Amino acid sequence: MAQMDADVIIVGAGPAGAACALRLAQTGRSVILLERGETPGSKNVTGGRLYTAALDMLSPGLAAEAPAERHVTSERISILDGEAHADIHVGLAPCDRSDSITVNRSTLDPWLAGCAEEAGAMVVPGMTVDGLVMNGNRVEGIRAGEDELHAEYVVAADGVNSLLAASAGLTHRPRPGEVATGVKVTVGLPEHTINERFAVSSAEGAAHLMLGCTNGARGGGFLYTNRESLSIGIVVDPTKLPAVRSTPRELLESLLRHPLVEPFVRGGELREYSAHLVREDGRSGIPPQLTLPGFLVAGEAAGFCLNLGYTIRGMDVALLSGIAAAEAIGADAGDLEGSYRTALAACGATGIMDAASGYGPFLEKSRLYGDYPKLAMGIARDVFAVANPPQAPDRIVPSVRREFRSSPLRIRDLVSDARAAVKGL
Ligand SMILES: Cc1cc2nc3c(=O)[nH]c(=O)nc-3n(C[C@H](O)[C@H](O)[C@H](O)COP(=O)(O)OP(=O)(O)OC[C@H]3O[C@@H](n4cnc5c(N)ncnc54)[C@H](O)[C@@H]3O)c2cc1C
Repeated sequence: MAQMDADVIIVGAGPAGAACALRLAQTGRSVILLERGETPGSKNVTGGRLYTAALDMLSPGLAAEAPAERHVTSERISILDGEAHADIHVGLAPCDRSDSITVNRSTLDPWLAGCAEEAGAMVVPGMTVDGLVMNGNRVEGIRAGEDELHAEYVVAADGVNSLLAASAGLTHRPRPGEVATGVKVTVGLPEHTINERFAVSSAEGAAHLMLGCTNGARGGGFLYTNRESLSIGIVVDPTKLPAVRSTPRELLESLLRHPLVEPFVRGGELREYSAHLVREDGRSGIPPQLTLPGFLVAGEAAGFCLNLGYTIRGMDVALLSGIAAAEAIGADAGDLEGSYRTALAACGATGIMDAASGYGPFLEKSRLYGDYPKLAMGIARDVFAVANPPQAPDRIVPSVRREFRSSPLRIRDLVSDARAAVKGL
């Protein structure tokens, strides 16, 4: 038998890998956490909103220590059409707010990896894992260049495009339709300017999601306030882009010029442009088998990411699945798959993914991203515009009828979409 370098080797120091490392180190296991980036977080992209309950589940009180940019206190959803937009702006009472913060991965990931290190894990950045060391169907370690490291368990937490899960035969590399492309810019602005533009104090922040900014392709836009910057991006289904003749970058540039968004970013300094894949196939993206002897897949590598259009929850479900992987290793008595499934259910990760399992067919309806926003904006224009010379106000029902007639939507579309909405949502 090869000499063991650690009890557990974890590949990928994103939320899933770092959570797994921290939990295992807390229980006295020897852990090596390998990360290809020069520092954890340097290769990662996220919109920027983290629901923090998972951090407290990882270690009580951890959420309060997280490097929060701002606490989300203001929720806004906008429908865009041409230069127009309609908004729903919700300012929740403090007692009704979910605990969520805006974060930068360049500070969140090193902090979380640091917590794992403090608990006793060895964090090794700048190391790319190329493959697994297999003995039959048992995984005994990893290969990185000329080096081999051996451990009782290997956890693949290497993200959406997991080389390790695919090479173990548990998943395939993401196919078109299973993942969306996310592009994001960070725009620097003084703290007081952000406070004024979003009507928040320095501790408070806004989460703003936008529909109708993808030329009709499945997807949407986001804007999150950080302390001294804004994170703005587009997440879009790449298979739909040829039909709408746009690239993600063009869609993002046009979003930044939109009359809704431009006043927010005006005078700002472009600090960063990044792009990354994100899973969008929900529950069906979780493979039927998540383990081999000595091997587990966690986080987005295992399909744990919820992309609902109006919110993306990748980081908190990644944290939960990392905790579950650690629990499964602790409880392994020969049925690693069973222990992992039990732990995933116990920490809530399975429940979160299951709750949205019906959303997929509804969110796939392309009409949601073009025809419906146009119809809604057409009706709003009719209702609010007063013609010159003055006329009687438009009555709402005839206006809805007129806009509906001039849109490509048909009654049967409404019926089928309403049915899909009721069934899915
Ligand atoms: C544009 C965009 C917006 C998003 N917005 C949000 C949001 O607002 N809120 C939210 O919760 N989620 C959001 N997500 C999703 C979220 O970022 C991911 O789901 C989450 O980061 C997954 O965590 P993870 O730990 O599984 O994987 P990752 O965070 O991807 O971490 C994987 C790590 O593994 C490392 N790695 C990969 N391969 C190797 C290798 N061979 N060797 C060594 N290291 C390796 C990587 O460098 C990386 O550090 C967004 C995603 C995108 C793209």
